[in-house]
Amino acid sequence: VYAAVGVHPHRADQFEAEADRVKALLSQAKVVAVGEIGLDYYRDYVRQDLQVAAFRTQLGWARSHGLAACIHMRAADTEVIGAVREEGGSVVLHCFSSDAAVASEALALGCTLSFAGNITFPNAEQLRAVATNVPGDRLLFETDSPLLAPQPWRGRRNEPAYLVAIAEALASLRGCSVPELAAKVAINADRLFHWGAT
Ligand SMILES: [Zn+2]
Repeated sequence: VYAAVGVHPHRADQFEAEADRVKALLSQAKVVAVGEIGLDYYRDYVRQDLQVAAFRTQLGWARSHGLAACIHMRAADTEVIGAVREEGGSVVLHCFSSDAAVASEALALGCTLSFAGNITFPNAEQLRAVATNVPGDRLLFETDSPLLAPQPWRGRRNEPAYLVAIAEALASLRGCSVPELAAKVAINADRLFHWGAT
């Protein structure tokens, strides 16, 4: 088991209080990413200026520690893409749910896009088109457990076991087998998280 550590945008108002403790964890061998960090202007639980400050600081930590940043981006695409453009570093846009234009901007900046169970939802045609076209070396998939359980478990608590359903959906979209997809994504994950080395 490996960890990503970071202060989520929903808790960005506590960033100052948590910063030292979180930062100290970044040098642990099994901490392989800073995350989830980012901006959520949809729920908007925390003032946006506080979200931006916490996000930018932690993006800088990811870069200075040589860690990937796992980014939560909701209703804040322009702001997140702008920050990634300025801060650089190794970036995963987790649970990618934005449109094709945002995807191509993110890919141009070197981001990896990670897809979750919502690619199986009936109304997700646009998202499926994005997932079909992402270059194979920029692709991850994830559960986002306990949220976003794939069909036919939508609405229930998500489980790591349901990752198989997400892999099957993604493989069928991309016209490859699940083992082929898994092999490719394992290489991508290792390149981002360096867990082969620990
Ligand atoms: Zn998230």
